[in-house]
Amino acid sequence: MTQTPVFSIVAPIYNEIGNLPEFYRRVKVSLEQTSEAWELLLVDDGSTDGSTDMIRELAAGDPRVKPVIFARNFGHQLAVTAGLDYARGQAVVIIDSDLQDPPEVILDMIAKWREGYEVVYAVRSEREGETWFKLFTASVFYRLIYRITDVDIPMDTGDFRLLDRKVADVMRQMRERHRFLRGMSVWVGFKQTGVQYKRAARFSGSTKYPFKKMLRFASDAITSFSYFPLQVATYIGFIAAGGSILAIPVVILLRVLVSKAFLGQASTLIAVLFLGGVQLISLGILGEYIGRLYDEAKGRPLYIVREAPPKPE
Ligand code: UDP
Ligand code: MG
Repeated sequence: MTQTPVFSIVAPIYNEIGNLPEFYRRVKVSLEQTSEAWELLLVDDGSTDGSTDMIRELAAGDPRVKPVIFARNFGHQLAVTAGLDYARGQAVVIIDSDLQDPPEVILDMIAKWREGYEVVYAVRSEREGETWFKLFTASVFYRLIYRITDVDIPMDTGDFRLLDRKVADVMRQMRERHRFLRGMSVWVGFKQTGVQYKRAARFSGSTKYPFKKMLRFASDAITSFSYFPLQVATYIGFIAAGGSILAIPVVILLRVLVSKAFLGQASTLIAVLFLGGVQLISLGILGEYIGRLYDEAKGRPLYIVREAPPKPE
């Protein structure tokens, strides 16, 4: 058995065969500079491109590489969650495996951790090789999240961050299914700081977050940390009800003074359709929350592993 690692690196992998060897090499070069024991948890999130075998191969060549292999694709956030569950280090670093998060930045994070910070998140000062669409949606997303949630999630940070053992242990106790890890790691408190970095372009392959997954992720983020969408219906209801009460005397006066007023039905129809639409949207929003409640109530395991190292306690 290898000694207990000081640093655990957690990387989710979904069809990253073109990135894995280079990712492993750069993580190794960076971590070797710390002269501490480390482990690299490669969480295979149901890859179908041969990444799984490549992870096993890397693990066979280096006992510090530990494969956690899922039974199917569970999604990025759950893959990272599994990594946190299996990590043994005194500090745990979450990093993407497509080399958009440069492994060298881990050294800056470790330096901050040694100064006593318990969460060190990486702030993107620049982003390379992203489409304008991704940049635009990401920017809207971060600003929206910032405004409507109760936790002040720092702007332009991803999941690339270092968590002290204390924080990782608290996060391990938070078993919510629809998770927004970067929000959860702020919510826990502790001493937090950021390090700046330049987000690189993907080394190989293309994004595993199509628009549909991005929407799902955004709604998980919002519903996990905000009731605002539920309250919107109340606000609109008050505005509509207030408006219609005010309109009653106006309509009566107009009907009495101007005999031709309000003969048509178009205005009625528009009002009815508008309110019908608002009601359906509100029901849909309720549905989003209720569906998530239902998922939590079922209490299924968050992910299913096919093979994994022994779980710490
Ligand atoms: N990923 C995953 N499961 C998924 C989708 C993505 O484990 O269902 C991993 C992926 O391999 C990568 C990280 O999550 O290491 C971030 O995904 P990606 O780079 O595609 O997202 P983007 O950087 O484009 O937002
Ligand atoms: Mg990426």
